[in-house]
Amino acid sequence: MKHIAPQVIKQASLQQTHSYFWTARMIPDGETYLFGDNKISLATPTRGKSRHTFGGKDRFRGSSRADCDGILVHLLHCFDLTDNDLPFDLPGMRWLPLYYCFDFRVNTIGYRFRDDESLEFFFDRDDPHTSEKEEWPDDNYPLEFPEVAIQVDALTYDPTNFDDVKVWTGVFGIGKLSPQDQERLRDDTLQWFEICNAPEPESEEELWDGAHMPFMQGRPGSQCMNPVCEYSQQERQGQLRTIAITGNTPVDGVHVFGPHGDGIMFIFQACEKCQTIRVENQCS
Ligand SMILES: [Zn+2]
Repeated sequence: MKHIAPQVIKQASLQQTHSYFWTARMIPDGETYLFGDNKISLATPTRGKSRHTFGGKDRFRGSSRADCDGILVHLLHCFDLTDNDLPFDLPGMRWLPLYYCFDFRVNTIGYRFRDDESLEFFFDRDDPHTSEKEEWPDDNYPLEFPEVAIQVDALTYDPTNFDDVKVWTGVFGIGKLSPQDQERLRDDTLQWFEICNAPEPESEEELWDGAHMPFMQGRPGSQCMNPVCEYSQQERQGQLRTIAITGNTPVDGVHVFGPHGDGIMFIFQACEKCQTIRVENQCS
C-alpha cells in the first residue's frame, strides 16, 4: 500500500489550527476524504488513468428520475472497491458510487444496493428545510457532472496521536487516546463551548457530544434511511459509520452546490446492518 507522507494530513491540521481555533475548516477544493476502521484515504483528481471516477454516465439501475419518483440524483464519485488503498470495503460489492440530490426539494437521501449494478433510493420528504418545487443551486444545472479520473492514496492516521484524533473526533472517537490526552481534549472541548458562547455542558455526555470535528454542526444523523432496516427506527450513535466527506468543489471547476456553496460538506455514512448509504449536508 502506498502511503502519503504524514505531512499531508499534518498540513491540513495546521491550516485548521491557524484558521479557526483547532479543527474547523472548509474541505479544500479537489479533496474528498474516505474513512475506514482508523484509516483515512484522500481521493483527488488525476490526469492519469484510474479505475475510480467522478461524474460521467451513471451505469447503475434504479437511479433514473423515473425510478426515483421524479427526483434527479447526481453521481459524484464511483470507487472500485478492489483497490487496497481504499480504507474500507462493502462485503460482496465491487463498486461504491457516491450520490447526492442537489434539487432543494430533498436534503437527505439514502440508497441501498440491490446488487452490484442496481440501487434503490430513499428520500427524506418530511424535512421542513426543503423547497416545495424543483429548484437547483445554479442556473442551467448540469444533468450529470463531467467525468474526471480520481486517484486514491492512503493517509497516515494514528488513533493514539492527540493531533490526529482531535481533527477527526467526530469520525473515529477518542477510544485509543491515553487518559492524559483524553483529559486534554476534554479541556479543549470545554474551551470550544466558551468560544462559541454556548452554555456549559451539564453532563459528560453533553460535553463529549461537543467534540465532533470535522462536523461543524455536530455528528450527522444516525438513522438508517432503509425503511425495512431495524436501524431506521431510532437514532442511535454508532449505527452508521462515516465513510466519506467531500466539499463544494470535488474536482476543479465543478461547484456542485453552485457558486455560493463553498463551506458546505457532504457526509456519506454506511449502515452497519444493511449497508444502505445515507447522505446529508452541513456547513463546514
Ligand atoms: Zn440499515
